[in-house]
Amino acid sequence: MPTARLFCALFTAAFALTAEQLTVTVLATTDLHGHIFPFDYYTGRQAPRGLAKAATVIRAERERNPNSVLIDCGDTIQGSPIEYLYQRFVSSGRLPLGLQFPGEPWREEPTIRAMNAIGYEALVVGNHDFNYGLKNLDHARS
Ligand SMILES: [Zn+2]
Repeated sequence: MPTARLFCALFTAAFALTAEQLTVTVLATTDLHGHIFPFDYYTGRQAPRGLAKAATVIRAERERNPNSVLIDCGDTIQGSPIEYLYQRFVSSGRLPLGLQFPGEPWREEPTIRAMNAIGYEALVVGNHDFNYGLKNLDHARS
């Protein structure tokens, strides 16, 4: 039975590693809500938040321990004006209010694109990631 053999191999490997220690740092973000830039869209001012600010901390922690895993805990693609516009584009094929992309329409979901540039290993889907429907969530995953 291949599954049982695989389990035994993993179990054996875990035993063999008990003599050594490895410190793994788990880095996590949550509730980014599409805030990429350190900017408060409602006040029109710089703000100490967003994925760009987190990237600075993530970079420093990875330098401190290269054995790091970076995950996001959800509520990622909903909540900021840039996400509102982009999700409406994904839903309908056009931006709301007659707005136009400055060039070709963005093919990648903007927050996910930034997360890929930073090098996230995994993303957990949050409840607000379903706000625009499965079509939009599938698009973000692609
Ligand atoms: Zn949230």
